Amino acid sequence: MGVTNWAGNITFTAPHAHRPRTLDELRTLVAAGRQVRVLGSGHSFNRIADTDGPEGTLLSLAALPQTVDVDPAARTVRVGGGVRYAELARQVHAHGLALPNMASLPHISVAGSVATGTHGSGNSNRPLSSAVRAVELVTADGETRTLHRGDEGFDGAVVALGALGVVTALTLDLEPAFEISQHVHTELPLVDLDFAAVSAAAYSVSLFTDWRAPRFTQVWLKHRTAQPFSDFPWADPAARQHHPVPGMPAENCTPQLGAAGPWHERLPHFRAEFTPSNGKELQSEYLLPRADATAALAALDAVRDTLAPVLQICEVRTVAADDQWLSPCHDRDSVAFHFTWVPDASAVRPVVALVERALAPFAPRPHWGKVFGVAPAELRARYPRLADFAALAGELDPAGTFRNTFVRDLLGS
Ligand SMILES: Cc1cc2nc3c(=O)[nH]c(=O)nc-3n(C[C@H](O)[C@H](O)[C@H](O)COP(=O)(O)OP(=O)(O)OC[C@H]3O[C@@H](n4cnc5c(N)ncnc54)[C@H](O)[C@@H]3O)c2cc1C
Repeated sequence: MGVTNWAGNITFTAPHAHRPRTLDELRTLVAAGRQVRVLGSGHSFNRIADTDGPEGTLLSLAALPQTVDVDPAARTVRVGGGVRYAELARQVHAHGLALPNMASLPHISVAGSVATGTHGSGNSNRPLSSAVRAVELVTADGETRTLHRGDEGFDGAVVALGALGVVTALTLDLEPAFEISQHVHTELPLVDLDFAAVSAAAYSVSLFTDWRAPRFTQVWLKHRTAQPFSDFPWADPAARQHHPVPGMPAENCTPQLGAAGPWHERLPHFRAEFTPSNGKELQSEYLLPRADATAALAALDAVRDTLAPVLQICEVRTVAADDQWLSPCHDRDSVAFHFTWVPDASAVRPVVALVERALAPFAPRPHWGKVFGVAPAELRARYPRLADFAALAGELDPAGTFRNTFVRDLLGS
């Protein structure tokens, strides 16, 4: 059986797969490859990481040294291209430092996550890629190249879909460690929802609904304990620990009920030692201007009878605007509508199309790592710096070694 992604809905087609053990071995493989892609921890739900030709090479960086070099004085960390957030966070915390935010799970690789614009939640929190201050690449000729924040092209080089080269290391900004207390509230009605007030109610806010009724089943509030926080008057506090997906064990989730704890054990929803989410699922996500949140919720509410039968859970988060050219939050404060579907692609596909029609008036940008059907021409129109990215890719990878169908479709070449 071939290599599959985490969800099992993609079997990679690359005829060659390698796990280099040293940087030199990696450089030799890249220089010799006709078409090369890197597979991170495989948590994407589409063919973004795959090769497509008869000469494709899929590289895993899992056998390279898993570097995590913290510089406490500079408050930075240099992290190897195969390292996952769980290990990074553990070592960063041991130095009394922190990342500003995390995604819902710590199981994902750092390089693969920032390559797709992965994000957590919070009105002031930008995507995880915004912590990156330097990117080290092995380009198609096997040479190494480092781009620093402020360099020309840097804003195209972090959320880069694996299209510029192999990311062998990233340097990230850190801040002093902080504590979070996590509170869950249940049954928040959609009617008269003050989205701006609710999404501002904590450092990170996640709203969950199964769309079986016009209400959120759960609201997760992650408060920084050093910052003042007020009551949440719109829904009752939960009396027990919850999992966002109905029927899944609540102990798989990070501690709730207000118990304060370190940032990396509260910012993700799911604990590193358990399967995150359900495990049997597909996912889609769309990011659109935050000012349209209420109108977009109404548009989804109008089709909820069709969504609900194939939906396990929908999560609504906010993310702050950033500068990365291919970031789904590029230049706009965003609201993100995430859908955890049942693991049945043929049942889910028409509903994904329905969601895309419902959200189309808001020019949504799909999460690069999830299931979507938005046409490449529409995507191009939603990314004002796409031509700059294509030029950067042409400069760093003139022969198109790192292009696959996904990237070619997007760039139109
Ligand atoms: C249960 C679950 C929960 C999730 N929760 C969130 C969430 O909270 N927020 C969110 O935004 N997303 C979320 N995601 C999506 C996930 O963050 C993205 O799919 C992310 O890209 C996964 O990282 P990965 O290492 O598995 O990447 P992969 O799927 O392995 O690869 C993604 C892309 O990165 C490239 N890549 C990987 N490593 C390198 C490298 N070293 N050099 C160059 N290119 C590389 C690949 O070629 C590919 O193009 C979730 C996914 C799952 C399965």
